[in-house]
Amino acid sequence: MRVLLTGGTGFIGSHTAVELLAANHDVFICDNLCNSSRETLTAIESITGRRPVFFESDIRDARAMRGILGDNGIEAVIHFAGLKAVGESCVKPLAYYDNNVSGTVTLLEAMQATGCRTLIFSSSSTVYGTPQKLPLTEDHPVGGVTNPYGRTKLIIEKILADLCAADAEFSAVCLRYFNPIGAHPSGLIGENPNGIPNNLLPYVARVAAGVLKEVNVFGDDYPTPDGTGVRDYIHVMDLARGHALALQYAAGRSGWDAINLGTGKGYSVLEIIRAFEKACGHPVAYRIAPRRAGDIAANWADPSKAQRLLGWRAERGLEDMCATAWNFQQRLLSGK
Ligand code: NAD
Ligand code: UDP
Repeated sequence: MRVLLTGGTGFIGSHTAVELLAANHDVFICDNLCNSSRETLTAIESITGRRPVFFESDIRDARAMRGILGDNGIEAVIHFAGLKAVGESCVKPLAYYDNNVSGTVTLLEAMQATGCRTLIFSSSSTVYGTPQKLPLTEDHPVGGVTNPYGRTKLIIEKILADLCAADAEFSAVCLRYFNPIGAHPSGLIGENPNGIPNNLLPYVARVAAGVLKEVNVFGDDYPTPDGTGVRDYIHVMDLARGHALALQYAAGRSGWDAINLGTGKGYSVLEIIRAFEKACGHPVAYRIAPRRAGDIAANWADPSKAQRLLGWRAERGLEDMCATAWNFQQRLLSGK
């Protein structure tokens, strides 16, 4: 299939590009490089032997999007492009609504204009807000989101549902990711955020590498077994495979759907630090810090819908997630 990956040079998009190229799809990437670099294209080519067709372009550029979709006969879009820093979204909400929500509307208009009617959307477990029960199933109520970033995900999910209701041929699948971590086993692609990382794993990796001093563990008084926050960490390679399967699923149907991509198992912050220590072979310094505003105590997925509809389930464990993240971090430091 001829597939456009918006945000395809980013963390999850690049791993998905590798997976799709291996499955013989024709991969096109459009990214404005606000949080990634062109070098990722060379890394993807080194891994797969094929280079995606790349457009340095913004999804809010209506004319460019129509051109990319129309000129290349794009049959489906996997929509990763977006800003994703929760804290920044509280400081610059309009930038998030503009980039994520307006950008998606522009992309959808271009898809409509060019007759492309299949979309996979990068949603998030954040749309569930504070869980009323665990594990989270897709029919758990959405809403109660505590920050503008999360609200953009929720709004986009609703826009896609409205579009599917209005256009009987449109197919939209919202993949609700839990916490993607890890890297490709080659160490050539992985998660490398600009500045100080917001997310736990890249922060832990940089402390382990001696780039940052210590991990701030945000709260040890949650109602969890060791008092620290519990999340469902999922290997980015498993997540990438989920996209390839979701693409087949979405292409063969119409209408709106939402599917969790998680493992079904939660780990605490301290368990993650311990697992990373094993992977890197030395202690990782940490201190207990105050809770982070807007955090929930725990969430993890019920991934059975993905198994049922896509034949997907997570296969890689925490050890592999930490080992590959550490491998990637070391390659970054060595500059190779
Ligand atoms: P990322 O920042 O590595 O990738 C996003 C890519 O989108 C970047 O390459 C960036 O340059 C590009 N981009 C941003 N705005 C753009 C625009 N207007 N036009 C074109 N390109 C643009 O992030 P990621 O971790 O790979 O996340 C991909 C998607 O998954 C995002 O939508 C994110 O919100 C969502 N998501 C991520 C997580 C996570 O923990 N990583 C969890 C749930 C959902
Ligand atoms: N966390 C932490 N220190 C950090 C970053 C995160 O203790 O520097 C905790 C956070 O409170 C949560 C878990 O790690 O319990 C995962 O946070 P992350 O930001 O990676 O993902 P989120 O689940 O918030 O999307």
